Amino acid sequence: MNALSTATLIIDAAFLAAAFLFIYGLKRMSSPVTAASGIRVAGLGMLVAVLASFLYVFGVSEAAKPHLTVNVILGAVALVLGLGWAWTSGKKVEMTAMPQMVALYNGMGGGAAAAIGAVELFRTSAEHSTIPLVVTIIGSLIGAISLSGSLIAWAKLDGRVNGTWRFTGLQLMNGTVFFATLALGLYIALVAHGHAPVWMTAAFFVLALIFGVLMTMPIGGADMPVVISLYNAFTGLAVGFEGFVLQNPALMIAGMVVGSAGTLLTLLMAKAMNRSVSNVIFSNFGAAGDEQQGEIKGSMKPVDAGDAGINMRYASKVIIAPGYGLAVAQAQHKLFEFVKLIQEQGVEVKFAIHPVAGRMPGHMNVLLAEAGVPYDIIYDMEDINSEFKDADVAIVIGANDTVNPAARTNKSSPIYGMPILNVDQAKQVYVVKRGQGKGYSGVENELFFADNTNMVYGDAQKVMVQMIQAVKSLDGGGH
Ligand code: NDP
Repeated sequence: MNALSTATLIIDAAFLAAAFLFIYGLKRMSSPVTAASGIRVAGLGMLVAVLASFLYVFGVSEAAKPHLTVNVILGAVALVLGLGWAWTSGKKVEMTAMPQMVALYNGMGGGAAAAIGAVELFRTSAEHSTIPLVVTIIGSLIGAISLSGSLIAWAKLDGRVNGTWRFTGLQLMNGTVFFATLALGLYIALVAHGHAPVWMTAAFFVLALIFGVLMTMPIGGADMPVVISLYNAFTGLAVGFEGFVLQNPALMIAGMVVGSAGTLLTLLMAKAMNRSVSNVIFSNFGAAGDEQQGEIKGSMKPVDAGDAGINMRYASKVIIAPGYGLAVAQAQHKLFEFVKLIQEQGVEVKFAIHPVAGRMPGHMNVLLAEAGVPYDIIYDMEDINSEFKDADVAIVIGANDTVNPAARTNKSSPIYGMPILNVDQAKQVYVVKRGQGKGYSGVENELFFADNTNMVYGDAQKVMVQMIQAVKSLDGGGH
């Protein structure tokens, strides 16, 4: 067997192994118990695929070797730079900035797929056949939209871009840009057969990038989770298409796995918001700013953290609704310490997780897993919502939009129609937050003014410490 066929054999075997590791890793990610190891397995798959790519240099003819060697060197430099940046930023990132980082990396994936497409399309000297050309165009289009759209999503999550675009004719403008981009792409593939003038190919990419911005700018508020998972799906699809163009099975499989998982997540997120995906993209629901709220009756009644803690120690059933503020305060460890204390006193404690709580899909599950909260006391919204009416206490920790009853009743509210956690049905509600801050969608919350609600003001971690101290002092040092 010569060097060329040995290299090809090793590369093919490595890609097969990588594909297996991706799929097995994803399978392990389906349960919180095995999710962390699933990420490591999928990461190993990526390492195998990347290393195998470098073997291509052995699989080419002698004439092509010098050219490929330059590419390998460039690839290695890019790899070192990317690894260094991702490693340091990944180590440093705050838990609260994780959603932005996910959006950013997602955009990078879309950008990489678009870049592969660009290399193919600008290589006008090459002979292209129709199907790969069409696939290249589709992958490039989705990848470029995903890049600029994810960057806008990142900027919105990071608070660098505030507000949403709404004006008459917006849909028409977006539609025009999209169809112009598509028409250019089809011309490049079907009429020019990949030999279009450079300006035309460049215009195709610029328009696709502009469309990503236009598509994301009108979406805001409570709709962001759907958008983030949609771009996740887009990136996977784009990578999968470009994998087909390069005839690289690892890219194809990785892309399709991400694409299908992202699509399922998008559908789940949309379902959680009680909306269709097209409704999220094409209507301006979720964009904060035009809520007409009637006068909210009642007043906010502050209560001492220690008193609230002691009240919960004497309750029989307590349901906890965590939200973004729990992540900001990094209060998950103290919260679980408090939970264990009252559990020792025979209190039944359950966690209620809203699907869009926090700033990224699964945010609360990640936080609670980090604190070691057992999975059997963590419930999804639809499984626990009927239990709030039997709870003595519902404690809302750093959540706001996900417990806002306006979603049920106020038709002008940007979150109208979104299912919420029924915390208001508990006998007593405690809301832990620092002050008068609104939730992500920027609307008032009448829950805070309800007769059965008391506000426990303060940073969630400090409040939990006070509650722990109060219960411990009552029970003589907590045993
Ligand atoms: P919200 O963003 O609605 O509210 C968070 C609350 O936490 C605020 O009212 C704030 O009030 C309070 N808070 C902030 N810091 C602290 C702290 N240190 N201690 C105590 N409280 C604190 O949270 P929810 O989780 O209920 O809702 C998530 C929102 O984010 C939804 O609108 C969702 O659509 C959106 N979103 C979700 C994404 C996802 O994928 N999950 C992605 C993007 C957006 P105060 O300032 O007074 O303390």
